[in-house]
Amino acid sequence: MKKFTVILIILVAIAAFWFFHLDRYLTLEGIKEARVHLEDWRQEAPLLVGLGFFCIYIAATALSLPGATVLTLAAGAIFGLVAGVVIVSFASTIGATLAFLAARFILRDSVQNRFGDKLKTINQGVEREGAFYLFTLRLVPVFPFFLINLLMGLTPIPIRTFYLVSQIGMLAGTVVYVNAGTQLAALNSLSGILSPNLLLSFAVLGIFPLAARKFTDRLKKRRVYGKWQRPGNFDRNLIVIGGGAAGLVSAYIGAAVKATVTLVEARKMGGDCLNSGCVPSKALIRSAKLAHHIRNGSDFGLETVSPQIDFRKVIARVHDVITRVAPHDSVERYTGLGVEVLSGYAKIVDPWTVEILLNSGGIQRLTTRAIVIASGAQPFVPPLPGLDEVGYVTSDTLWQEFSDMERPPRRLVVLGGGPIGCELSQAFSRLGSEVWQVEMADRLLIREDSEVSELVKTSLSSDGVHVLTGHKALRCLRDGDRKYLIVQNKNGEQRLEFDALLCAVGRSARLKGYGLEDLGIPTDRTVVTNEYLETLYPNIFAAGDVAGPYQFTHTAGHQAWYAAINSLFGEWRKFRVDYSVIPWSTFIDPEVARVGLNEQEAKQQGIAFEVTRFNLDDLDRAIADSTAYGFIKVLTVPGKDRILGVTIVGAHAGDLLTEFVLAMKHGLGLNKILSTIHIYPTLSEAVKYTAGEWKRAHAPQKVLAFLEKYHAWKRGKAIVGAPL
Ligand SMILES: Cc1cc2nc3c(=O)[nH]c(=O)nc-3n(C[C@H](O)[C@H](O)[C@H](O)COP(=O)(O)OP(=O)(O)OC[C@H]3O[C@@H](n4cnc5c(N)ncnc54)[C@H](O)[C@@H]3O)c2cc1C
Repeated sequence: MKKFTVILIILVAIAAFWFFHLDRYLTLEGIKEARVHLEDWRQEAPLLVGLGFFCIYIAATALSLPGATVLTLAAGAIFGLVAGVVIVSFASTIGATLAFLAARFILRDSVQNRFGDKLKTINQGVEREGAFYLFTLRLVPVFPFFLINLLMGLTPIPIRTFYLVSQIGMLAGTVVYVNAGTQLAALNSLSGILSPNLLLSFAVLGIFPLAARKFTDRLKKRRVYGKWQRPGNFDRNLIVIGGGAAGLVSAYIGAAVKATVTLVEARKMGGDCLNSGCVPSKALIRSAKLAHHIRNGSDFGLETVSPQIDFRKVIARVHDVITRVAPHDSVERYTGLGVEVLSGYAKIVDPWTVEILLNSGGIQRLTTRAIVIASGAQPFVPPLPGLDEVGYVTSDTLWQEFSDMERPPRRLVVLGGGPIGCELSQAFSRLGSEVWQVEMADRLLIREDSEVSELVKTSLSSDGVHVLTGHKALRCLRDGDRKYLIVQNKNGEQRLEFDALLCAVGRSARLKGYGLEDLGIPTDRTVVTNEYLETLYPNIFAAGDVAGPYQFTHTAGHQAWYAAINSLFGEWRKFRVDYSVIPWSTFIDPEVARVGLNEQEAKQQGIAFEVTRFNLDDLDRAIADSTAYGFIKVLTVPGKDRILGVTIVGAHAGDLLTEFVLAMKHGLGLNKILSTIHIYPTLSEAVKYTAGEWKRAHAPQKVLAFLEKYHAWKRGKAIVGAPL
């Protein structure tokens, strides 16, 4: 209602301006003709005329009416240079700020809601350097000022900053125009005011902040690089440290654009994902799932039998899967793609030199223009008293440690209720271990909504996992051959006896031992980078788990593109990493997949949302597959079909999510999904049905009521109480 009133006032004022032909006074000729009268008025009542002029100027600027230039000239003609500049400077800034506020009040919310994701980078840029942008725009009179006022109103720039920067930035132009106004009689055209020389000096003024920034950048660089001796030329364009997802993609992109690239890997090509992470865990999960199906054959009308699990063969299959995937990440493949691959441990000795302790013996030193650090992360081992005495495995070591076991550990304690802990707890339980999963927080998968955590807990429990949430691991004990973990919850302490203990409480970035400390590259939990993935040294980049904030193979690959391109072409154009649409999945059964916001995050961030749900127990294909459980939950902008985030719990959730990921990435709403044909009977129909649920909830009730009457009328009957 308030918005409507403001819009109405603005429209009436603009209409009045045109209706009364007030524009005729805002031409050079008009003002010249009125000059004598104006001069007389000013002499009679200087204060009143000054105030009236001030108000008219504010109104014209606030309403974005044409004629600000002529009014500025008039100010010079009537009030002279000094008074004219003071009046115009304040009036123009106040008017501009009113226009800015009106745009912000009327349009900003809807624009931000509609294009929020796309505007994210602009918003961040404005938050960081808005004053700088605005100052440049105000100095160089290239863009119409009224447009700047309105557009700035749609950004998050603070009002105070807008006002102050506008006042200072417009001052030079104001002086020039007011001064020209003092010579009004001699002025023949508006274009004459700005001579090429004057335009040039404005341009120089406008470029000044840019030049100043370049200069400070140079100073910063000098301070950072000052103590190092830069080589005259370089052996390589790019050296990549680490042959995991981030390193492989960085190296590949570098080679694809014909740079000379060396990739250094200390252990196995493919990094954690191939050798100890995604690939082995998913292979194990598959065997475990089959065991689960055999055990639950009756669900499918088969005789229920107890699966005969040959654990040694299960682990052998895991290694076989790794071997079969390995060629994708092999030295041969990357050499073929034009990357030089060195097997050894890399150490950065100065910002342009990497020393490689070769696995084959010897040391090689290479100079390079740029470096990408892609050294990954490793399992975090909590400092539990007694842990070393009882022994433990991590996701790094279990694949070797368990490879000779005929049976999975009889009693397994899994520390950690995150994705890795949940995946491995369920898998080992299905393969025959008795599993206790210990999590300090009061629920599993704490990043997900609590209803997801509940469903996951129920599911793991039904697989036989003893889920101990709200339990803190205190210490480990060994009593002869018997090993225990002591945990504590609100009821006191409890002893868990185990044969094997798996630590899955998180992964910490590899930050030590390869030169970051000596170069003074700041680290926190990860290597500190800016939005271009540059470290303190603008020629050294970081990507993947070592850079965070995400720890996924696909985000490592995503960052790698930015690290490679910015490291090779950054002096021409740099790209900010786009984290706007990041999906992930936890591969338990049922899978949990998410992109964008969930309810708890939207609430924390104060973002308004609507929830649309579709329960998968209603889906034909899920019923046929005996996977009729779980749900799809979509968060949308209230009243709009724009997707803010999606959580799916169900069979193949990770695959189903991709359609939403695509929609979010390309700004497609639920209406577009609804109007897309999905094959019957597939699980993907659930995506369309979710869009259908949203549509049903947003059906135009008035139109439907009208249609009901229309059809009744067509049948020749009237609805009781609703005459047409
Ligand atoms: C059990 C488990 C399951 C997972 N499942 C999934 C999943 O399903 N989906 C998913 O997206 N992600 C999953 N992940 C996460 C995924 O594995 C990582 O996010 C991904 O491997 C990160 O890639 P990266 O290139 O950053 O690091 P890494 O893969 O760790 O590669 C870093 C490489 O750098 C090498 N290196 C380190 N320092 C040096 C040095 N100084 N010189 C030379 N080489 C060096 C290391 O040897 C290593 O090979 C899982 C992780 C685990 C542990």
